[in-house]
Amino acid sequence: MSDRRFMLYDTMSKSMRELVPQESGHLKFYSCGPTVYSYAHIGNFRTFLTADLVVRTAEALGWQVSYVSNITDVGHLTEDSLADAEGEDKMARALQSKEGERFANVWDLADHYADAFVEDWRRLNLRDPSVRPKATQHMREQIVAVQELIAKGHAYETPTGVYFNVASFGDYGKLSGNRDQDDLMRAVRDVVQDDNKRHPADFALWKKDEKHLMQWFSPWGWGFPGWHIECSVMAMRYLGETLDLHAGGEDLRFPHHECEIAQSEALTGKPFSKLWIHTRFLQVEGEKMAKSKGNFFTVRDLVEGKNADPLALRYALISVPYGKPFNFTMQTLRDASTNVERFRLCEEKVAAAVSAARPGDDAIGPELDALYDESLSAMLNDLNTSVALAKALEGTRVILREAELSGACAVSAQRFLDRINALLGIVRHEADAPASTSPKVDEARIEAMIAERAAAKAGKDFARADGIRDQLAAEGIELRDSPEGTTWRRRASLEGHAPS
Ligand code: AMP
Ligand code: ZN
Repeated sequence: MSDRRFMLYDTMSKSMRELVPQESGHLKFYSCGPTVYSYAHIGNFRTFLTADLVVRTAEALGWQVSYVSNITDVGHLTEDSLADAEGEDKMARALQSKEGERFANVWDLADHYADAFVEDWRRLNLRDPSVRPKATQHMREQIVAVQELIAKGHAYETPTGVYFNVASFGDYGKLSGNRDQDDLMRAVRDVVQDDNKRHPADFALWKKDEKHLMQWFSPWGWGFPGWHIECSVMAMRYLGETLDLHAGGEDLRFPHHECEIAQSEALTGKPFSKLWIHTRFLQVEGEKMAKSKGNFFTVRDLVEGKNADPLALRYALISVPYGKPFNFTMQTLRDASTNVERFRLCEEKVAAAVSAARPGDDAIGPELDALYDESLSAMLNDLNTSVALAKALEGTRVILREAELSGACAVSAQRFLDRINALLGIVRHEADAPASTSPKVDEARIEAMIAERAAAKAGKDFARADGIRDQLAAEGIELRDSPEGTTWRRRASLEGHAPS
């Protein structure tokens, strides 16, 4: 592949920038996770899938990825779309709702929705993060961070809590563009005014509240942390003071990410993240999702309620690049099902061909390798999933157009499906053993390659025969030729036998 630069649209500089890990070949990536007061909806998953695709693309480049995606289980308030934290805690409100009646307390509610969330995450075949920290399990670090911000003159205590002093941080507004006083005042115009605050845009780091359902003791009495400080603390705790990349949905640019930047940079004096990406909101049937409009879907509504294939739902949700508007419809899901089915047909055809081990050339390998490269190139171009999926589908056409696959073709097709699955996650679930690593199929594949090598030798194509030997050697498989045929052994001691 010619250009292996990973380009992303950076919402801080508003330009395409190359993602270059500070530590070569090791990406440090934070993606804001869900607030677990209810089941996650398919819009949330559009955003989480963007993060998943970043991880998969980085891995395809051979990078190691430290990937942190948190769970917010306290402190996200109903009015948090404004700079200040106001309103009720979403967790507490959920407990008091009709659905909340089945929970004994707010902790049970948080656990239930956090578990359900991870279940949905795996159903849609997202890679597990390296760490999935919970805000409630990082309370001490948050309190210490708030103390430090006070000590550095960036925060102050009032009778209601501890607030970040926006005027003390000259760069406030650099992500969202809410920089000058007019913009800032417009952005926070609906904030419930707290006379103790120095500026309406100052935001809560700690809320004093002795009646809150989830509370901790702090130097400022009983209370709970602000939503923004949670993410700053968890990101820096696991990834260091400067991340390579930070992601979230478009609504998080302001105030959540703006506030994360202010707190983190005020604490460390270093840039908080090198790049920022934000996923455009998913709409359903042309409108913003809302329970009242009947167009609001959780993953389980579709998978359990409407029998949708989870891989098809995944395919549908990534079918439009993350930075583009996306109107999800039931037709999108039906089209995705048809496409996912093509990959299944390929899997079946390849598994059968691997066992049959028919002799013959590898007529499709170079074409499939080129299509994989084009799919990866599309992903490197700001996660252009529509092109990446189109290239993957073209590969299925190549595999399915052959009436019968030779053993050699089957090996190439298997490699294509494995690599497309690693990149896009649409062929099979990660939890299912990939065909090439299940012992039985793997043995059949090796034997097919040995048969192919014997055929190449018989046809005096020694370059091809040596190529197969080298490919197997690279996988740790040694061949021994004898008058009775060729045997093979894995260097790790697993042995097998193949007829010549
Ligand atoms: P929340 O659970 O509200 O904290 O949201 C979790 C993530 O989902 C955040 O990154 C949000 O920006 C994102 N999100 C919420 N609604 C949508 C939507 N309709 N489309 C895409 N992302 C969304
Ligand atoms: Zn966050």
